Amino acid sequence: MKINAIKLQHKKNTSTCETIDLPLPERVFVPMSQSMGRGCDPIVKKGDKVFVGQKIGDSDKIKACIAHSSVSGTVVGITEVLHPSGKVTKAVEIEPDGKQELSPDIEVPVITDKESLCRAVRESGCCGLGGAGFPTHLKLNYNEQRYKVDTLIINAAECEPYITGDHREMLESPDNIITGIRLIMDTLGIENTYIGIEDNKPDAIKIMREKAAEYDNINVCPLKASYPQGAEKVLIYNTVGRTVKQWALPSDVGVIVLNVSTVGFIGRYSKDGIPLISRRITVDGDAVATPCNVNVPLGTPLVDVLKFADTNIEASDKILLGGPMMGICAYDINMPTAKTINSILAFKKPERKKNELIGSGQTACIRCGRCIRACPMGLMPTYIEKAYDKHDTKKLEKLSVGLCMNCGSCSYVCPAKRPLAEKNQLAKALLRR
Ligand code: SF4
Ligand code: SF4
Repeated sequence: MKINAIKLQHKKNTSTCETIDLPLPERVFVPMSQSMGRGCDPIVKKGDKVFVGQKIGDSDKIKACIAHSSVSGTVVGITEVLHPSGKVTKAVEIEPDGKQELSPDIEVPVITDKESLCRAVRESGCCGLGGAGFPTHLKLNYNEQRYKVDTLIINAAECEPYITGDHREMLESPDNIITGIRLIMDTLGIENTYIGIEDNKPDAIKIMREKAAEYDNINVCPLKASYPQGAEKVLIYNTVGRTVKQWALPSDVGVIVLNVSTVGFIGRYSKDGIPLISRRITVDGDAVATPCNVNVPLGTPLVDVLKFADTNIEASDKILLGGPMMGICAYDINMPTAKTINSILAFKKPERKKNELIGSGQTACIRCGRCIRACPMGLMPTYIEKAYDKHDTKKLEKLSVGLCMNCGSCSYVCPAKRPLAEKNQLAKALLRR
């Protein structure tokens, strides 16, 4: 079976930019909801002194991702901030004291089995760092009676243009990645690991092959640089040839997929016990004068990161969180960074080409079929759009819209500028309801 893909310009301008630490911001606003799943509640109050890595948000809900302070300093209030999804969430506002004192509660986790691994990963506040933000402890805590997981797939494809954080993780912290992989394989009894890396990152393929050389069951898989190579279902098929059906999970085909920066974090956390308090963010786009990879304390306002990269904020017409294909627009540059934000891209208003129609936008479908040829899941986006417009749920089921992973390829190739990917998301939500 051949999976459809499209070619995009890579624009990996920052692939050689070593990660640098962002200077401490004047304030951080640590959101209580930074990932998929449940948010947590603040457990500190105004006036409290906090340390780096101290737990400041918790929940009794298993799906919640715990929040920790990214700085040492004083809590100046519990406030509300915008989450990248557009929802409003509580946040702990902290004024850093500049000392960056580590919490005395930090200790190296003792991990001996699946239960202690999942507990430690939950305590670390880890969620998928590739952008989706699924709480990692839930992914690892699969039901062994129901799922026979034998394979770990590490998503290091990083197929979206501009973003280079995972690439830098492999170059800068390959040992942490191997430690994380070994820990997960040993505690969950997983037989084989496959690290999928697009072939436009030969230095990362080389270093990961060197580091994995002593293990027969850790394999590095170079993958063709095409979009959406890093989409979970595509990656599973292209690395181990297994097909995840509509509405099914990777564990249904015996697989767990983890992002490479996530597994690198788990490896590092297993050695020093410091929870997820910062993350690497790629800053790029034509409004950014100094594109870079920067290690950002979580809760730092976007504007501080943009200014650090010498962004012409006034000239920025669009600021994206995530890549140009699947990223979302930032509503407000004062909103804080969160665990799911792997890049901030700032773009100027595109200049109109000569003869381009004023106001040219969406037009009628010309039945060219490009969206169908582009879809990696073999879907028919133009038919899905029509079925959604009629709210025809039977037809939507028949068209397998549940397989859509919102990669955006159909919208990208459509000459009529139909909002196909958006309609697919709405159609999926309709079916879920
Ligand atoms: S957004 Fe959905 S329908 Fe469109 S190309 Fe991607 S998977 Fe296919
Ligand atoms: S790519 Fe656009 S114009 Fe072509 S068939 Fe699909 S929806 Fe219609």
